[in-house]
Amino acid sequence: MEKRIMLSTPTMHGEEMEYVKEAFDKNWIAPLGFNCDNFEMEMDQYLNKGIDDGFKTLALCSGTAALHLATKLSGVKEGDIVLCSDMTFAATVNPVSYEGGKQVYIDSERDTWNMDPRALEKAFEKYPEAKVVVLAHLYGTPSKMDEILEICKKHNAILIEDAAEALSAKYQGRECGTFGQYNAISFNGNKIITTSGGGMLITNIGGAREQAFKLATQAREKAPWYQHEHIGYNYRMSNVVAGIGRGQLLHLDEHRALKEKIYNRYKEGFKELPVTLNPYLENSVPNFWLTCITINEGINKNPMDLMNKLNELNIETRPIWKPMHMQPVFKDCDFIYVEDKPVNEDIFARGLCLPSDIKMTEDEQDYVINAIKEFFI
Ligand SMILES: *Cc1c(COP(=O)(O)O)cnc(C)c1O
Repeated sequence: MEKRIMLSTPTMHGEEMEYVKEAFDKNWIAPLGFNCDNFEMEMDQYLNKGIDDGFKTLALCSGTAALHLATKLSGVKEGDIVLCSDMTFAATVNPVSYEGGKQVYIDSERDTWNMDPRALEKAFEKYPEAKVVVLAHLYGTPSKMDEILEICKKHNAILIEDAAEALSAKYQGRECGTFGQYNAISFNGNKIITTSGGGMLITNIGGAREQAFKLATQAREKAPWYQHEHIGYNYRMSNVVAGIGRGQLLHLDEHRALKEKIYNRYKEGFKELPVTLNPYLENSVPNFWLTCITINEGINKNPMDLMNKLNELNIETRPIWKPMHMQPVFKDCDFIYVEDKPVNEDIFARGLCLPSDIKMTEDEQDYVINAIKEFFI
């Protein structure tokens, strides 16, 4: 293939440019402004569909900024234990360190590759003082929310939901990003919709959005001069970038449907192969952001060899996110698991993320499928 087949790249439609142009025409280039306000309003409507829990969004410069504010608002302080998803991207858990907290990593279950409720319960037994849980929905697959929420409630813990990869995914009909007290989504370039860079904090805790807004705009107090009583940040989304987001949001459900089609075509294509796709629960609808495989146990093939072979054929793949407890930077953090051996180490050793770009044609996807078939002959 001459054209490289990519994992996940931005897909623009045209409306994005119209909103951006409007910002230019009105010279509303500064942070904040009508695109930002409208993007938040439109996203509020999207997330609150079918529920009346009053979730409100705050548009920020990144998903990481949203997670940082979520961590601050949850009250994480120097030395606090925070129970965190282990198989995720580092941005989920870095803000815990920004605030001086200490991550304890929780292994995944095999049904969704997300935080194992049994391991979470075990962690609370070891760390009854823990007051905050940070949960990510990996690759757009909803976690076992019923169990997780029950455990958080039982231990009176705040839940931060990292839905950066899971926008438009649903668990029992409810949107991911509306389960925790403080939740984050991302519009980074590779996500299901993108603003080039950006994110949102989502909360329905009274006064929390206002507090986050203040922190995100340098913590200015109400005074004619610049008056500060707290340390603030410059975390808001620009009005230009928000225009891209408004245009993208019009196509979010369409993107999700295309991602699902890619997943199902892989599933069909790999019927005869010793591989398993990233699984999901029947009561959930993933957004299928990335389709991944694991090579079945007992098959003497290495996913890194498959990655290298596909790379030679101009096909981009990526290893499964390396678990946090295996990262040198977190070597001092505790890791809790309940099976004989850590599930995440096993998924990492046998797994690979496949091209899931919605601009990939059926012919291109067949080319990927055939290349993977050849690898197993
Ligand atoms: C992308 C991502 C983030 C970070 O979002 P940014 O907007 O890039 O800061 C956080 N968590 C997960 C799981 C992600 O995939």
